[in-house]
Amino acid sequence: MDHFLYRDGVLHAEDVSVPEIAAAVGTPFYLYSTATLLRHFRLFDEALDGMDHLVCYAMKAASNQAILKTLAQAGAGMDVVSGGEYLRAKAAGVPGDKIVFSGVGKTAAEIRLALEGGIRQFNVESEPEMEVLNAAALEMGVTAPITIRVNPDVDAKTHAKIATGKSENKFGIPISRAREVYALAASMKGLEVIGIDVHIGSQLTELAPFEAAYDKVAELTEQLRAEGHNIRRLDLGGGLGIPYARDNQAPPLPSDYGAMIKRKLGHLGCEIEIEPGRLIVGNAGIMVSEVIYVKSGEDRDFLIIDGAMNDLIRPAMYEAYHDIIPVVEPDPGVEQVKFDIVGPVCETGDTFARARIMPPVAAGERVAFRSAGAYGAVMSSEYNSRPLIPEVLVHEDQFAVIRPRPTFDEMIKRDTIPTWL
Ligand SMILES: *Cc1c(COP(=O)(O)O)cnc(C)c1O
Repeated sequence: MDHFLYRDGVLHAEDVSVPEIAAAVGTPFYLYSTATLLRHFRLFDEALDGMDHLVCYAMKAASNQAILKTLAQAGAGMDVVSGGEYLRAKAAGVPGDKIVFSGVGKTAAEIRLALEGGIRQFNVESEPEMEVLNAAALEMGVTAPITIRVNPDVDAKTHAKIATGKSENKFGIPISRAREVYALAASMKGLEVIGIDVHIGSQLTELAPFEAAYDKVAELTEQLRAEGHNIRRLDLGGGLGIPYARDNQAPPLPSDYGAMIKRKLGHLGCEIEIEPGRLIVGNAGIMVSEVIYVKSGEDRDFLIIDGAMNDLIRPAMYEAYHDIIPVVEPDPGVEQVKFDIVGPVCETGDTFARARIMPPVAAGERVAFRSAGAYGAVMSSEYNSRPLIPEVLVHEDQFAVIRPRPTFDEMIKRDTIPTWL
């Protein structure tokens, strides 16, 4: 459920009309709903009620300071995957002891940054990383709390680019080698082993792959405890999918996911961490764009809009589907038409949808891409010298620009000219 609904014939975000925002900021832009963000965070939080737990928002999905602050004030921790994300979380007021550091390629500088600023735990992904972390901790005279990310070799049944839990993926340590690697970690004086981490992929639409992974984690917990490791925290990753198409079968709800976690892992008495990204912010954001031209082709009509692949890359990168709806509510009886919906970028890949059946829209009218909150703005670029599009946050009847659109001048002046030119 989200808070983007037609009211009096126009699309609203909570209590603000989308055309009003479009008139103020220009198109294209991203638009987020505070109520939807909070609702999704609370669904996860409540799903783990009765277990000691922390929901660590995977901020790579959308990392604007205002979004982070909204979630942090509701009690969320953060899952970060770079030094930049760590500093963003700190800047939004998240205390170090609520920040988890994930990722296969943490540099020594990033590790030191987090050790200095405070960290809940590092999710370590390899032996070389473990050695760098140990050396940094010893040098700084501190102990680094760690889990080790295990790769359970399960098929997440999702798009290949976002599956992470098969043995051929670059992530984690093969679960078959976990005991050996935990023994190595326990021998390092700069590290304190506190738990196990697993994350098998993104946009999972069934619980079965999670169940298979969590069964393996439960078994490993007992083995490691028997070998003397004090396993007291399980980080179960993110990955629960969202419905992108209205008429599709919906993925499992956070409440079902939470109940499954209790069933599979509750008996172990561990603190539970989860790292949802997409499900918290995906349906809490839309991208609004204006139709520049309607162009008649030989066997199809093209809707050429002012948003492009540099603004929202998911269709080009993951063959992702987004519902695209007119901002002005169509008449109920209107005859649907077929469009290819494309942006102005000089690549055929700049196609958002082919043969999409939708109500007719004309040049100058606006459309909204639903479910664009996750992996949207954060993956945008200035390809074709199109300035990064603004982000706007709505809260009830108020809205605020939370990242302004750079001017062309600002964009150009970011480059510097060498003295020889
Ligand atoms: C990307 C990622 C997540 C979040 O995945 P979602 O599908 O957005 O929930 C969580 N944990 C790790 C380690 C990740 O890399």
